[in-house]
Amino acid sequence: MHACTIRELTKEYVLKSETVRALRGVSFNVPEGDYVAIMGPSGSGKSTLLNLLGCLDQPTNGQLLLGEDDVATMTDDQLAEIRSRRIGFVFQSYNLIQQLTVVENIQVPLYYQGRLGAQERDRCIELAHRVGLGDRLDHRPTQLSGGQQQRVAIARSLVNDPYFVLADEATGNLDSKTTNEILALFDELNSEGRTIIMVTHEDEVAERAKRVVRLRDGLLQSDATNSEESRKAAAQRALELLPVGDE
Ligand code: ADP
Ligand code: MG
Repeated sequence: MHACTIRELTKEYVLKSETVRALRGVSFNVPEGDYVAIMGPSGSGKSTLLNLLGCLDQPTNGQLLLGEDDVATMTDDQLAEIRSRRIGFVFQSYNLIQQLTVVENIQVPLYYQGRLGAQERDRCIELAHRVGLGDRLDHRPTQLSGGQQQRVAIARSLVNDPYFVLADEATGNLDSKTTNEILALFDELNSEGRTIIMVTHEDEVAERAKRVVRLRDGLLQSDATNSEESRKAAAQRALELLPVGDE
């Protein structure tokens, strides 16, 4: 099972002069296949929470279960293993390697895992097609638009066929048309059964998720479901921004 259980989760950053309590006891569950938007003011703990969910960091206290596995008690190797097998990460700033081509950037996680054979190379090319970059395989990031770069990052996040796709302000640098293209991709990934958890500060983005969790000062402020009708209406409004036949 690939549900996620969060119980009284806390994260403190201990600095020389002070201790920052970034998360102060957050509880909620994310069932497999959910699509959650995390919102909240700057500094409310959104990225901290997403980094914990992504096994990039460990909680100070409380419980974070990914399936049966307790993230708090894992070794660095176990965390790295979970990150590479189960989790895809997409960042606001794309984090591509400028010297590498589109297809090489998609291959990066496999390269680091020493698993880049002929079959994997083919799969990376397929992923580039899947995100609409089949005709840009040999382009480098500087030769791509922001939206295209983010699509490379999404393809890269999918190389290990993750159960969880975590996105931190993934559309934060994109115009609304491009944002909608990325959200259409997220809809597809979610309909394949992948769990999506994204941080956003944009209402038009959050209303596309199945659920909106709001943080404030490191605490859960609200947790609301978006009705199927309101999601459809939001997707429809977004579709009207997309010219027919646009790549
Ligand atoms: P958000 O993503 O909602 O803007 P963050 O999770 O990045 O919020 O930050 C929550 C709080 O924790 C902020 O006060 C921030 O300054 C602090 N913080 C985040 N990361 C670190 C860190 N690595 N070291 C110290 N403090 C941090
Ligand atoms: Mg943040």
